[in-house]
Amino acid sequence: MARKQMVAVGVDLGGTTFGVAIVGPNGELLAQQSYDTPRASGEPQALYAIAAAVGGTMEQAVVTPDQLLGVGVGIPGPVDPDAGTIRQAPNMHELDGVNAVEVIGQELSAALDRPVTVRIANDAYCHTLAELRYGAGRDVENLVMLTLGTGVGGGVALANKVRRGPRQILGEVGHIIVEPDGPVCGCGNHGCLEAIVGRDGMVEQAVRLLEHGVPSVLSERGGRYHELLTPRVIAEAAAGGDGVALEVMNTSGHYIGVALCSCIVLTDPDLIVLGGGIANAGDVLFEPIRRTVHHRSMISGFDTSRIVPSELGGDAGVLGAAALILDEIAD
Ligand SMILES: [Zn+2]
Repeated sequence: MARKQMVAVGVDLGGTTFGVAIVGPNGELLAQQSYDTPRASGEPQALYAIAAAVGGTMEQAVVTPDQLLGVGVGIPGPVDPDAGTIRQAPNMHELDGVNAVEVIGQELSAALDRPVTVRIANDAYCHTLAELRYGAGRDVENLVMLTLGTGVGGGVALANKVRRGPRQILGEVGHIIVEPDGPVCGCGNHGCLEAIVGRDGMVEQAVRLLEHGVPSVLSERGGRYHELLTPRVIAEAAAGGDGVALEVMNTSGHYIGVALCSCIVLTDPDLIVLGGGIANAGDVLFEPIRRTVHHRSMISGFDTSRIVPSELGGDAGVLGAAALILDEIAD
């Protein structure tokens, strides 16, 4: 690494591991490390671990404290980015209400012997920002991002900025209602997109078909469906032509398409980016999504070839977190 190049650090916090990356001014991934997230009750151990890991990763990459522009952290849950507090961290409730900017900032400033700027954002926001700056959306200013995983994350960029709104809810595509009397969602509502195509929703769709005795390669899982089935397993079976898996992907793609039709009329995007574990599933997922958007969004005439997979994959979290800092410098 060139001496004295300025860098930002991006951190992608997860319930079991977290990633730390050193990122150059144009989004270059210069170094990256993964660490175990410590589990603790009462104390925000994960935040102390992040501060220590940032220092360690910088040392390994031979980055000196005076090269550091700041540290951005993506949080898996709602945050108040202006106050720097974590509102709620699923599976890490010891972080609820904690001011992550203060805790990490104080630890790092002491360790590096200089003030360190820290910013936080929700992880879906970071994914969206990363794709907008460095990924599939780098040539557009308006995009909708959907991250398919355990939950369904969402983000909206308008006029080259990711938007969240005064209550941080803008872009929560996973909670668009696509089936008013559908299954219960984690948010308490019925029939949100996340309740149908989040991890549990997708597995539930498959289990329902398997329990009706529809023949499938997935039946070999000995009935322990809820433990052994994942969206990725279902997507792979669908790519292999399995009927049950294809039906799940068709249904999921349909509902994703329905949600996207709402996104299109609300935000008029140049591009729609799908990320997360099964975004690489290819045509088995994208075909039903594009078909639904084609038939259900006549008013927009949206070019369905503009619905594309994420280009950054697993790196989107750390890159977007670093971009929280790099965007501020650029402004
Ligand atoms: Zn919901």
